[in-house]
Formats: sequence, C-alpha cells, structure tokens
Amino acid sequence: MAKMNPFEMFLKQVDEAMPYLNVEQEYIDILKEPKEVLEVAIPLKLDDGTVQIVKGWRAHHNNALGPYKGGVRYHPNVSREEVTALSAWMSIKCATAMLPYGGGKGGVRVSPHDLTKNELERLSRAYAMSIIRFTGTDIDVPAPDVYTDPQIMSWFIDTYEKIKGRNEPSCYTGKPVGLGGSLGRGDATSRGGMYVLREALREIGLLGKPLTAAIQGFGNVGSNAHKLFGEIGITVVAASDSKGGTYNPKGLDYAALIAHKKSGGTVADYPEGERITTDEILESQVDILIPAALEGVLTEANAGKVKAKTILELANGPTTPAAEQILHDNGAMVIPDVLANSGGVTVSCFEWIQGRSGDYWSEKTVHDKLDERLSMAFHEIWEIRKQHKIRMRQAAYVRAISRIVLAMRFRGIWP
Ligand code: GLU
Repeated sequence: MAKMNPFEMFLKQVDEAMPYLNVEQEYIDILKEPKEVLEVAIPLKLDDGTVQIVKGWRAHHNNALGPYKGGVRYHPNVSREEVTALSAWMSIKCATAMLPYGGGKGGVRVSPHDLTKNELERLSRAYAMSIIRFTGTDIDVPAPDVYTDPQIMSWFIDTYEKIKGRNEPSCYTGKPVGLGGSLGRGDATSRGGMYVLREALREIGLLGKPLTAAIQGFGNVGSNAHKLFGEIGITVVAASDSKGGTYNPKGLDYAALIAHKKSGGTVADYPEGERITTDEILESQVDILIPAALEGVLTEANAGKVKAKTILELANGPTTPAAEQILHDNGAMVIPDVLANSGGVTVSCFEWIQGRSGDYWSEKTVHDKLDERLSMAFHEIWEIRKQHKIRMRQAAYVRAISRIVLAMRFRGIWP
C-alpha cells in the first residue's frame, strides 16, 4: 500500500471527527486547505565558495483565532506537503491548548549536521529574510522544531529586526533566555507531555504504579522526556535515535546516557544497555511508548506488534490513521500529538506574552501555568471522549475544530 502523506493523514483525522461535530461543511472545506504556502529557493554560499540552492517553505493554515504559529524544521526530507500538514496540525494544537493562535509551519530541506556553523548562520538568516513578508508578532510567529534551536532563533530574530529597523521581541519564540526567551521553554514540550500523561494515568488508575516507557527519538523532546518522566514514577527502559537504540530492563540512567553521548557515543552503543534496532524499540515490552521524532513511524505494518497500552505522541503525526485503529482495537490508548506535545507552543505563547509586556516570569510561574492549562485541556477532551465513546484524537479534534469554526462564523466568509 502506498505511504500516506502527512496532509492526507490530517484530512482523514478531520473526517474522523466530523460525525461528532456540529459545524457547516463550508468551514470544514476551508480547513482542508492551507490558506497560503510560501515556497522559497535560497542560494546558500558554502565555505568553499560553491553555491547550493536550498528549498524552503512557510505554510499558513488558518488564522481565525490569532496569528499563525509554529516551528521551523531543518531536515533533508522536508517537503511542501509535510510543512502544510504540520501547519494544519498546529491550528488544531493551538486551539486544543486554548492559545490565541492559528497554525503555521516552516521547513528547510537541508541536513544541518552537514553544514559548518557559518553556513548554518548564513542559511538561517537567508531563510528569515525570504519569509519576512509572511512573519511578524501579529502575523506569524515561528519557533524551533526538528533540528532548529535557540541559536537559530537568535539569527532569525536578529535578521528580522535589522531589516525592519526595530526591536520586536515576540516575532519569534524559542529564543535563548539571554535574548528574551522564556524560562522553561527548553523542556516545555516534554514537561507538557508529562503533565498530560500524569492526568491520563490518573484517569485510568495507573498513576503511582511502577511503569516503564520506551522513547523513540532522542533529540530535545525525547531526551528531556527521559530526564523528567521519573517525576511521575516512570522508568525509561529503552531509547533510540535514528541510528539505533538501547534497552535495559532495570532502566536507563539519564545522566550516564547523556554523558556517553557527549563523549562522542551514540544511543545504540551505550554500554549499559543491550543494542536494539529502530524497529524493535516500537515493539518493546513497556507500558508506555513515546514516539518523539518524526511522523509516520507507527503504521499498519507494525501497529499490531506494539505491546505498550499507552502511546504518548511527543512527535507530530507519528501514528497513521490505520495504525491508530489497530492500536485502538488492541486496547491501546493514543494520547494525540495535538494535546501531548502542546507544551512547547504553550510556553512559546508565554514567551510571546512576556516579550510583549516586558514582564518576565519565574520558572515556577511558567511550570504552574503550563500544568494548569494542559491539565484542563486534557480533562475537557477526556469528557468529550467519554460522552461520544470516541478516541482521544477524535475528541481533541472535536473540541479544537468547534473552537476554530466558532471564530470563523463570527468573522463570516469574506472576501
Ligand atoms: N515545533 C513545536 C510544535 O510542533 C513548537 C511550535 C511553537 O512553539 O510555535 O509544536
């Protein structure tokens, strides 16, 4: 069977929420297309003087609730369809977390690890410049995503502000704390996932029981999940990155694994664990499976082999609709991306508010507000799920789409 592209996944997810939605078809038709997608070709001068053309995109899906919001991804497989799907998921995610935003996303088709720091800076500045007509505090606010980080946000905002000739601290989020970033943004996606998971475990009567987890993907989100999830009694027994994974039934020590990676090791060759493949990690004998890398990893080909009964989607779009149905039929619960990983954009919103007001919050304030918001979102979605006897993702989409459509109705269809 042909692989479903991520935008087709989004369309299917909307269709699956439709029977429980009380909205006019024309609004659904609007949500099934991005509003606009900017495609750019960036000539990147490499350090050796040669020029490489790098493709990039910025997609605006919907802005009924507020400015477009979403990260910028650097990855060799980025495509227009992927960025568009990710922007649509951001619309749903921002509405799920009750943020005053629509959905946007950017992507640059590049392998950032192959570039020198100077090349990366030139590319980042060129990208920020080429999408400048699409961005701004009240227009579209980009942030980090796969393989982009606070340093890249610094180059983005510096380019933006120098071209505009003014300071505008909230035109990008995910900045370093020393450049107007928010405390608590670095691990916000994983922390938000922890709060959501804690509430889910509370509901199903497992909170406080000894539970194990496997984390697929060991970038910012996966590694911070490893660091934090012990706080809710979870032992991480398996972890992997794109090169392979490691398994230790007694648990993987976070500090030791990070130290091993810092000294040039990979997750797969961590000496305190048994080497496993990137496929095997998904089939680990654990209570909780945490996909924390890219979309489309749980498919109809492997979903039947998943043993975990709870799937926490810290990545965007890791589970195809067919895989989700199989997991559901096997009694597993998928806590969907639009809720599970919404902590990142929620703290981005906190950063945006702080930048606009000039009033910067303590880390504790950020954590408390994040916990309050995501716990509330979780329980509202949980209620919808119970009321209609549907899956968590359907319930999240029902709540989010109702909210977006309410705003669109007030606005009316114009022009
Ligand atoms: N890239 C993150 C996401 O997919 C964060 C986006 C943001 O902070 O705007 O949710």
